[in-house]
Amino acid sequence: MSGENARRPIVAGNWKMNTTVEEGRALAREIVGSLGAPGPVDTVLCPPFTGLTAVRDAVADSPLLLGAQNMDAVARGAYTGEVSWTMLQGLCSHVIVGHSERRHLFHETDADVNAKVRAALDAGLTPIACVGERKEQRDRGETAEICGRQVRALFDGVAAADVGRVVVAYEPLWAIGSGTPATGAVAQEVALLIRGIVRALYGDAAPAAMVRVQYGGSVTAANAAEFAGQPDVDGALVGGASLKAGEFVAIARAFAQTA
Ligand code: PEP
Repeated sequence: MSGENARRPIVAGNWKMNTTVEEGRALAREIVGSLGAPGPVDTVLCPPFTGLTAVRDAVADSPLLLGAQNMDAVARGAYTGEVSWTMLQGLCSHVIVGHSERRHLFHETDADVNAKVRAALDAGLTPIACVGERKEQRDRGETAEICGRQVRALFDGVAAADVGRVVVAYEPLWAIGSGTPATGAVAQEVALLIRGIVRALYGDAAPAAMVRVQYGGSVTAANAAEFAGQPDVDGALVGGASLKAGEFVAIARAFAQTA
């Protein structure tokens, strides 16, 4: 997987609260069929929890990887409706944590996201940890401050040996689901900022240098090359377009080509 491939691009599809079990199975099969051998890129499907098993079976014997959209940092217990990291171990390899919808609709804090990152790493899962600013924060010139705070918080207590296993997704809230993506230049600027913060925390040496930074927010087949062409953008976290096999495969190919 990614361990031996420093900054190998990673394109992940966040299906959010979409797809029944059968729809998810069919979509995964379609993606497997059209992706073929994607080249040097990690491609990850993140269906809802209910679809994980069916999608795991659909992607078996293919290069596609499987991720969850969330997890609880507690191992087990009386937490009705929660899904813990122990339940994901052995089922999938990746997990999205701290998505802005989790932060804002479900009131997850920086401390919650940090606990999930650390639990995921301990569990052998690859966390895809999301950070990003709101429109009004960007307009006030607070992007670096907001993203910096979120990045520092998510790495709190993460051992230097594990830092390279973390994927950070820069997802400005104003671009998510809006049809108006950030520009490649904005994605590059914030990806570089994130990388600089990781270096400041851990130093220049690997594995800090292996941290991959994705851009997410209205990425489509039509604009993927713009993001793939940025030197510090190592992939994409894709929402809406990941529900269309052709779009998702084209995005993955765009990143494979520039790897
Ligand atoms: C997301 O929610 O992670 C996302 C990037 O969504 P979209 O691609 O639809 O903007």
